[in-house]
Amino acid sequence: MSITRRGFLGAAGLSALALAGKPAIEAAVGEGAQEHEAAATGTRLAMVIDPRKCLEEGDCTKCVEACHRAHNVPDLADPAREVKWIWKERFEEAFPTLELDHAPEAFHAKPVMVLCNHCDNPPCVRVCPTQATWKREDGIVMMDWHRCIGCRYCMAACPYGSRSFNWSDPRQALDRLNPDFPTRSKGVVEKCTFCEERLARGERPACVDACTAGVITFGDLNDPKSEVRALLRDRFAIRRKAGLGTKPAIYYIV
Ligand code: SF4
Repeated sequence: MSITRRGFLGAAGLSALALAGKPAIEAAVGEGAQEHEAAATGTRLAMVIDPRKCLEEGDCTKCVEACHRAHNVPDLADPAREVKWIWKERFEEAFPTLELDHAPEAFHAKPVMVLCNHCDNPPCVRVCPTQATWKREDGIVMMDWHRCIGCRYCMAACPYGSRSFNWSDPRQALDRLNPDFPTRSKGVVEKCTFCEERLARGERPACVDACTAGVITFGDLNDPKSEVRALLRDRFAIRRKAGLGTKPAIYYIV
């Protein structure tokens, strides 16, 4: 899809006005948000994560390493400049609105894996002035790095910190290159795409394959026979910041 300069300026102006008048999340999840709802039929890709199994693996970062290696994500030590598609965050920070006073000791101050939630109602998509990010019918929130102009509205709108900005040329910070996946350039936002390139080849996401502890289950939420549906039927599941109405497609069974 192409966008004219006039079209971009109009869209950018509207987005800026929306963001100037309200907090980013409110502007993004407000009126008309339902247009991004996933279809009730067809495929709806989702992930179910088992934090307890993950904790049992200690400091394991196989999922992070596999994802970042597959997607040429630069390894930058400076937290202000780091780029991440999947990472571990303390349970309390991943779920700040949960009352954890009497939560099982196992969860306190322990890391849980987090990534883009591929929200049903993604505020990041609503604010992008160039349609560099959009939601596919199967629920994947995609990125076109060539269309990204680096305005970072999507980063302001995402309530999960799931997007990273390349403050410098990421290619300089790659110690090895996956020639089968494109690199990005300075001034571009990036994030997890549910390994859409691997799914197109009939493979599972890299993080799912890398995790030998069975922490991550991936599948079709609209298929009653899928593994994700079976887990959600049997176990109680929570989603990050569910009160915001973004409807994440990443579920955590507790
Ligand atoms: Fe967009 Fe953030 Fe939701 Fe991912 S987690 S779809 S980046 S709002």
